[in-house]
Amino acid sequence: MDVAMNVGHFLERAALVYPDRTAIVDEPDLPGSWGRVTYRELHARAQGLGAALREEGLIEGARIAIVSPNSARFLACFFGVSGSGRVLVPINFRLNAEEVAFIVEHSGAELVFFDPEVASSVEGLTVKTIALDGNADASYFQPLGDREPVTWEANEGATCSINYTSGTTARPKGVELTHRNCWMNATTFGWHLAVSDRDVLLHTLPMFHANGWGMPYAATAMGARHVVLRKVDGEEILRRIEAEGVTLLCCAPAVVAAVLDAEQARREAGTSRPSLHAIRVVVAGAPPPSKVIERVEAELNWEFIQIYGLTETSPLLTVNRTRAEWDGLSGAERAKLLSRAGVPAVGVEIAIDDEGEVLARSNHVFRSYWNQPDATNDALAGGWFHTGDGGYLDGPTTVITDRKKDVIITGGENVSSIEVEDCLFQHASVAEAAVIGVPDEHWGEMVTALVVLRPGATTTPEELIAFCKEHLAHFKAPKQVLLREELARTATGKLQKYKLRQEFWRDEQRQVH
Ligand code: AMP
Repeated sequence: MDVAMNVGHFLERAALVYPDRTAIVDEPDLPGSWGRVTYRELHARAQGLGAALREEGLIEGARIAIVSPNSARFLACFFGVSGSGRVLVPINFRLNAEEVAFIVEHSGAELVFFDPEVASSVEGLTVKTIALDGNADASYFQPLGDREPVTWEANEGATCSINYTSGTTARPKGVELTHRNCWMNATTFGWHLAVSDRDVLLHTLPMFHANGWGMPYAATAMGARHVVLRKVDGEEILRRIEAEGVTLLCCAPAVVAAVLDAEQARREAGTSRPSLHAIRVVVAGAPPPSKVIERVEAELNWEFIQIYGLTETSPLLTVNRTRAEWDGLSGAERAKLLSRAGVPAVGVEIAIDDEGEVLARSNHVFRSYWNQPDATNDALAGGWFHTGDGGYLDGPTTVITDRKKDVIITGGENVSSIEVEDCLFQHASVAEAAVIGVPDEHWGEMVTALVVLRPGATTTPEELIAFCKEHLAHFKAPKQVLLREELARTATGKLQKYKLRQEFWRDEQRQVH
């Protein structure tokens, strides 16, 4: 028997098995906060959302976008939109109006939910926008009541979500993840982390980023409790962990560093309260320094788990979790082993091609880039997904060493160098520009622009940074602009990025941070 995989099933199961449990603790101090919601209620609200979309004529396959920091409503959308056969388009809430408009238009979204805090980013859209403020959105998120639930004849090859990601092109590409992709990723991920109904997941990862890595699906399926966090702050993370008994969180290395700083401040102030149970922290986005891993175990008493993957792979590809064989090792030795990307997750095959690029095959590799057949064919050439990451295999373990694509990862988010260069070139004083990532303690990589000014121009680095902030989401703007007389180029005039990066990366073991 083949029963089609539908992510909606995860919430249906939770509502059936754990109806009275708290499913989600919404951010408490917000107008329109849902407070604490049981699985019965979350399910009824997700069903209500499906019915509201149907009543509005948004049929199966229709795209519904959301621009919002983490929230209970966002979690409901994973099920109410995708579970009813509609397609969710989660958009990075840090993007500006022009960037959001591009995604809305490109994806063909017919309805856009937005958080009031980022209202300016949906200004000027020509499609219907609904503020998630507890009033304007009331008819969308009310429990189903006596309305007919939407019955969707699930098709696991149907698109579940389109997640836009910055890559090798100036414009982001829409990664089309199917129900099967998301389902397999969630169950495999949940298996590797041993997610259970005793877990409490703190949403330190933005839900828009690869659907929160699929963890919202996995945790829901098991009836675990979700704790919403809108804004990353080390001390606040420690407080929520204590208040809600959090057992599991996923984040970029920069967030781990913020938590370590907060814990250190507590120790210095004599207010440290070491956690009594082991908390699992799952880290990806960049290779975490082994010192940070060691400190996570020694100072926080948490278990450190590294994964590696991409939006295109839903995202789980490899996992690195301490094994029984490593129990006798010193903290430093174990941290060194854990600092590598890890071994293939169940159902994943990893290979390295002749040029050192990491290739992958798995049920969670995406189907296509939305409306970009050429980019899809390139990415999936030869039946393997080309990650754009450089690395090697040490036995079964993948080690990521550099990035073949022109992408900078800063604070866990991707920035396309080309997009920032395009922006700089719009400034009348800029003759040449190269944007690279340089290693940085806080950001992992810091967006840095090397700029040659036009003869006679007197523009300052500060002015160029301000110019980029005006035109791009702030996280994409260079943190530093360095003025140069010339930039290294090949004989054919191509920028030699690796040469430009050299002076900043010379002392690093790896070319990614
Ligand atoms: P995204 O699609 O935004 O999730 O970004 C995926 C990219 O993040 C990958 O292609 C890698 O360059 C990087 N990445 C993710 N996890 C790791 C990791 N564990 N180690 C090194 N780089 C990583």
